Amino acid sequence: MSATTLQVDVAIIGGGIAGLWTLNHLRQRGYNAVLFEQQALGSRQTIASQGMIHGGIKYALGGALNAGSEAIARMPDLWRSCLRGDGPVDLRGCRVLSEDFYLWSSGGLGSRVSSFFASKLLRGRVEKLARRDYPAPLQSSAFQGQVYRLVDLVLDVPSLLHTLSERYRDSIFRIDWDTCQLACEEGKAELRWPHCTLQPRQVLLSAGAGNEELMRRLGASAPAMQRRPLQQVLVKHQYRAPFYAHCSGSNPSPRLTISSHRTAGDEPVWYLGGDLATENTDAEPSELIDKAQNELRELMPWLDLGQSEWATIRLDRAEPRQSKLLKPDAAYLGPVEGVHNALVGWPTKLTLSPDLAAAVEAHLQAQGVARGPATDLSQLAALGRPPIATPCWDEAFR
Ligand SMILES: Cc1cc2nc3c(=O)[nH]c(=O)nc-3n(C[C@H](O)[C@H](O)[C@H](O)COP(=O)(O)OP(=O)(O)OC[C@H]3O[C@@H](n4cnc5c(N)ncnc54)[C@H](O)[C@@H]3O)c2cc1C
Repeated sequence: MSATTLQVDVAIIGGGIAGLWTLNHLRQRGYNAVLFEQQALGSRQTIASQGMIHGGIKYALGGALNAGSEAIARMPDLWRSCLRGDGPVDLRGCRVLSEDFYLWSSGGLGSRVSSFFASKLLRGRVEKLARRDYPAPLQSSAFQGQVYRLVDLVLDVPSLLHTLSERYRDSIFRIDWDTCQLACEEGKAELRWPHCTLQPRQVLLSAGAGNEELMRRLGASAPAMQRRPLQQVLVKHQYRAPFYAHCSGSNPSPRLTISSHRTAGDEPVWYLGGDLATENTDAEPSELIDKAQNELRELMPWLDLGQSEWATIRLDRAEPRQSKLLKPDAAYLGPVEGVHNALVGWPTKLTLSPDLAAAVEAHLQAQGVARGPATDLSQLAALGRPPIATPCWDEAFR
């Protein structure tokens, strides 16, 4: 039997937030786009993220806005419009964990940061709170610091993945690289199975750290990627009040970032990031857990987490390479070296995925990739559908 050839406007490889958001963005605009995932949707970074959709204030702890904080400032409003159903992607049905995100300091914030937070530049993005409005974990009379509410919100990432994968479920397929080849034919990428070949007008590599291997398969070595490691801490306890906050210390980055989640068995988990996670990437898990316990004892000595269970997870953030391994400021989209129809993207933050998808659409328009007729995808149905990744707290506390 001869192999069938299928054509689509866009083939997206990698189903984390970057791929799923772009699929929704393009499908909603009439592009004939399909997505391929080798494992589970949201595996690696997306499912391990803290779900914060932030407006960049955490990058302003040095007392000034930088390029990173400018690029991200409009994102909470954009995501809120999506949650209402009138944004670039329809997120109705996605669970919001918290509309409130706090920033606290155990002492004063420092006069430079305090006056910057009170400045016109940050009006509407940061609000200093009166004691009665403090979140439950900071309500103790022993707490002497300052608390701010930020414009940020927190989403339930499994629910986000579910919402983004349900709407265009029939366009999402599992890919097994033992039976599929990513080939480059006359400078154009295509996917080949024994029974069919897919010739996309455009390919988007959105596989996070997997982009490096996909580019290698296409014979490309640029653009280069960097991995910035983290070791996050998880604590499962009986304290039921949720808490979503950054604690500011002496660095321009948060000393500790806390988000609250529930295991499949409805047990509360605090997920700890910030400097604790970025400065202890090589620590033994037991050593980092000791540090995390000391941090919580020092910052909230009145808090009784009761009987708790602790774990750590190591992860890499995959990003376009920067000099000195710095944090990139914006979503990245660029051409794959030597392959005319392939782009590679790293959103660099969950929050910035809308920017990545908008850049893909702008590229399609600039290249004159018109919306093609719907393709009969029944030839791909036998590939199956990938599941949604398991949250890391359920993996850690099985
Ligand atoms: C601990 C942690 C916390 C974070 N918290 C936040 C936060 O609160 N807010 C925020 O804005 N950002 C946060 N981030 C950053 C954010 O999570 C990432 O920028 C974002 O999730 C990256 O998404 P992605 O789709 O590019 O990659 P990933 O989420 O890594 O997804 C890549 C997908 O591609 C698939 N894949 C890989 N290789 C292949 C292949 N060869 N073929 C097919 N599929 C493949 C993978 O299985 C996976 O599903 C956090 C990151 C980490 C690590």
